[in-house]
Amino acid sequence: MKQHHGPDGRAHPRGRQKRPFDNGTLRLLVLDMIAAAPRHGYEIMTEIETRTAGAYRPSPGVIYPVLSKLEDEGLISCEAADGKRKLCQITDAGAAYAVANHKRVRSALPHRGGRHNVPFPVRDAMDALKAALRGRMGTADTTTIAAMAEAIHAAAETINGLTDQASEPDMNQIITRHRHEIRRRTLTVTNTQRLTPHMIRVELESPELEGFTSLGFDDHIKLFFDTGTDKPAMRDYTPRGFDAAANRLTLDFAVHDAGPATDWALNAGVGTQLQIGGPRGSAVIAPVFDWYLLVGDETALPAMGRRVEELPAGVQVITVGAVIDGAEEQTWTSDADLTAHWVHRPASAATNPAPVLDALRDLPLPEGRGFIWIAAEASVARAAKEYMLTERTHPREWLKASGYWVQGEADAKAKLDD
Ligand SMILES: Cc1cc2nc3c(=O)[nH]c(=O)nc-3n(C[C@H](O)[C@H](O)[C@H](O)COP(=O)(O)OP(=O)(O)OC[C@H]3O[C@@H](n4cnc5c(N)ncnc54)[C@H](O)[C@@H]3O)c2cc1C
Repeated sequence: MKQHHGPDGRAHPRGRQKRPFDNGTLRLLVLDMIAAAPRHGYEIMTEIETRTAGAYRPSPGVIYPVLSKLEDEGLISCEAADGKRKLCQITDAGAAYAVANHKRVRSALPHRGGRHNVPFPVRDAMDALKAALRGRMGTADTTTIAAMAEAIHAAAETINGLTDQASEPDMNQIITRHRHEIRRRTLTVTNTQRLTPHMIRVELESPELEGFTSLGFDDHIKLFFDTGTDKPAMRDYTPRGFDAAANRLTLDFAVHDAGPATDWALNAGVGTQLQIGGPRGSAVIAPVFDWYLLVGDETALPAMGRRVEELPAGVQVITVGAVIDGAEEQTWTSDADLTAHWVHRPASAATNPAPVLDALRDLPLPEGRGFIWIAAEASVARAAKEYMLTERTHPREWLKASGYWVQGEADAKAKLDD
């Protein structure tokens, strides 16, 4: 290729612009790329050409001295891997240096949006994921597909949980929604127990639970009950626990006067079957809060108990559970700092907001960022939500409230989010 000499006295391929960054930035850019994955010198030249939209392709005379310098500084080590070409890898010191200087590299590159704005290590990981998916997609069976989806959701959850030391968490991304494959499954009861006088715990198992995914503590599944017609009755229940190794799902049923779900739970015994569907999706709350307040009646206790048990050490969780009496109180264990309050009111007052509002009125809330979750009979949940927003001026986007049942209506729920 013909060369010409630019104003800096170095050789440049004809027709290309001069290098768009100084020597120091080029050195960091090369280091950043090697930190993402081991590379040969020629791969680095091509990558820089791509990253600069073809504006600049460094010559070997530029790149190999940079590699030698980085090696001398102990930031990379290069060895002839395939007999002739040297493969350069990052050292521990180099990795730390690359992370510390990554922002400088990013701001030096032309801003082109989209993928080109994504840091090298992340782009490489995205490419690896894409290649892995492409490789499996054509041949994978449904179990493998479910496992693949679960692995990706888990990665998303991990990423949501990462806290960047240098920046504040993104408080606009509070709730992440995940979709799941909807499958009907037939399960068999393996155990039932009266957790409290008005709460029945049912354990169900089936090989069909393979691939069952529930990422959010307030996920719900549909339970199908035979009505003797071609239309089953459907009710929503919380996956209170799931043991993937044993393919075992745990559900808690609050016992009330009557209804297909309550009747089924009262009569279920070992060997009884149950059809379920879902969860259709999960709403995962970003772990960016210092404290959580969970408010609910008997129907919300499964979700509240699950949340309390899932929360890590270092956060505060306050629960306000409305139940008939002391015998209905549940004991939860948690790594988090748990304060459990119980409100006693008769079953006939389950739709009266006053007892719950009284408890909230006296409730001191911790310093810092807090997320409030409320679920109960619709009128109680609505009143509790309004109180926390208006009287306690809690930010609306840090609160989620749902009516888990509606007085006088079968299979009814109320979405209370505006
Ligand atoms: C997302 C979600 C998750 C839920 N998770 C759970 C859970 O894990 N455990 C649980 O027990 N419930 C849970 N519920 C509530 C449950 O779905 C309802 O209580 C459901 O109506 C019960 O069905 P059923 O067949 O017993 O009564 P239905 O046939 O639906 O209702 C019959 C009558 O009973 C009334 N009623 C319904 N529930 C109650 C109640 N709890 N107390 C007093 N009267 C009632 C109705 O207003 C109606 O008049 C959840 C609800 C939602 C929306």
